[in-house]
Amino acid sequence: NKEVIVVGAGLAGSEAAYQLAKRGIKVKLYEMKKVKKTEAHKSENFAELVCSNSLGADNLANASGLMKEELRRMDSLVIKSADNNRVPAGQALAVDRDGFSQEITDKLRNMENIEIIEEELTEIPEDKIVLIASGPLTSDALSKKIGEITHSDYLYFYDAAAPIVTLESINMDIAYRQSRYGKGDGEYINCPMDKEQYYNFYNALITAERAPLKAFEEEKIFDACMPVERIAMTGERTLVFGPLKPKGLINPKTDKMDYAVVQLRQDDKEGKLYNLVGFQTNLKWGEQKRVFSMIPGLENAEFIRYGVMHRNTFINSTQLLDESLKLKTKDNVYFAGQITGSEGYVSSVATGMMAAINIAHRLEGKTPFILDDRSAIGAMVKYITEDKKNFQPMGPNFGIIRSLDERIRDKKEKYSKISAIALEYLETKLDEIK
Ligand code: FAD
Repeated sequence: NKEVIVVGAGLAGSEAAYQLAKRGIKVKLYEMKKVKKTEAHKSENFAELVCSNSLGADNLANASGLMKEELRRMDSLVIKSADNNRVPAGQALAVDRDGFSQEITDKLRNMENIEIIEEELTEIPEDKIVLIASGPLTSDALSKKIGEITHSDYLYFYDAAAPIVTLESINMDIAYRQSRYGKGDGEYINCPMDKEQYYNFYNALITAERAPLKAFEEEKIFDACMPVERIAMTGERTLVFGPLKPKGLINPKTDKMDYAVVQLRQDDKEGKLYNLVGFQTNLKWGEQKRVFSMIPGLENAEFIRYGVMHRNTFINSTQLLDESLKLKTKDNVYFAGQITGSEGYVSSVATGMMAAINIAHRLEGKTPFILDDRSAIGAMVKYITEDKKNFQPMGPNFGIIRSLDERIRDKKEKYSKISAIALEYLETKLDEIK
C-alpha cells in the first residue's frame, strides 16, 4: 500500500511530502500547528523559519552553499521556494519568511497526493510507513512514543555541545598527543597552558558575551550540562581542577606538568575532527572563536562547529538509523530533519529529501539511494548514521566532506574544488532518482 505518513510540515517534512507526492505516492501529512504550537513556532504555515530568515551561504566555497546547490539539482521544493523569495543578503540565501512559507504551504495543499491532517500525532502507526520529521521541539506525547521505540537512552532533549575543530588546523608544534596517566594509546591531543596563559584565557572566558537563552531553555539546561564559562565563574581555579586539569599529563616538550591543559578528543571515524573536551558553552559564536583561539595550539584553529546549548530533541542516529534513515529495529519508521542530528534549516531539508527518496525507492522495489561523502548531503547522512561515541548534531561543513588528495593552501580554492567534485559526482547519481 503506497501511502506514507509524514509527521511535521517543517523544513524536512515539507520537502519529504513533496518528494513522495511527486513520485505518485499518497502522503498523509500531519502538522499540529493549527491546534497546538511549539514554544518557537508562530504561524500556521508550513516550513516556518523559527529564527533567522537566512538559510546560510549560497556560494560553492561554503559547505552550506554546496548542500543547497545539490538540493537544487535534486529538485528541492524548499530551496526552489527560497530562491523565489530571496531578499538581498550578500552571499547568503535569505528569504522573505512569510512569502517562502506561503509558497511551500500553497504547493503542498494543492498537490493531489497529499492529504493534510492538522492534528498532533501521538501514536506511531504500526501498519504504515511513517516518516518522523517533528523537529527539535517535537511534542511531548510524540517524544514519549519515540522514546519507547528507540529506548530512551538514545533520545536527547538538549544540545550541550562543545566546539569541534579540524586536526589539520591544530598547531602540533605546541599541542601534543598523550592519554592521562599513560592509559590508552595517546588518543587525546593536549593544549598546554602556563599560568599567565591560563589567567588570560580565564579572564576572557568569564567576560565573553553569551548567547541569550529562551525562557523555556534557561529553566532546564543547567542541571543537564554545565557550560564551561559557568563552571569558570564558580572560582578562579575551578577549571584547573575540572576540565582543564593537568594531572597525569607530562608535556614531552618540557618534561614537566603544565599549569593547565585543554584536551581534545577525536570526533569522527577518520580522525579529521576533534572536540574540546568539557567545553560545552553558551558563548556567542564570534566570542568562541576569539576566546578559544587563545588556547595555545588553537591560534589558527578552524571551528567546523561551535558549541551550543539549547533545547533540541534528537535521537542517537548513529546507533539507531541505517543509511536510508530507517530505524534499524523497525521496518516502517524513518526519521528526517533536526531530530536526526542533522542540524539547521538546510541539513533538515537534505535529510527530508533523502528519507523520502529512500521510502519511494523501497515502495517502487528499487535499491536504496545512497550518496557518498563526496557530496555535502552524503557526508551529512554518513556523519549522522555511522557509529561514533558522543554524538552531537552537526550542520554542513567541509570537515565531514571527503577531502582532496592534493593539498591546496588557499581555502577558497580548496573548497571550490571539493564542491566541483561533489557536483560532478552528484550528476552521475541523478539518473537513479528520475
Ligand atoms: P521544524 O521545522 O521545527 O518542523 C517540525 C514540525 O513538526 C513543526 O511544524 C511542528 O509544529 C511539527 N510537530 C511537532 N510535533 C508534532 C506532532 N506530534 N504532530 C504533528 N506535528 C508535530 N536553524 C537554523 O538553521 N537557523 C536558525 O536561525 C535556527 N534558529 C532556531 C531557533 C530555535 C528557538 C530553535 C528551536 C531551532 C532553531 N534552528 C535554527 C533549528 C531549526 O529548528 C531547524 O533548523 C529546522 O527548523 C528543523 O527542521 P525540521 O523540519 O526538523 O523541524
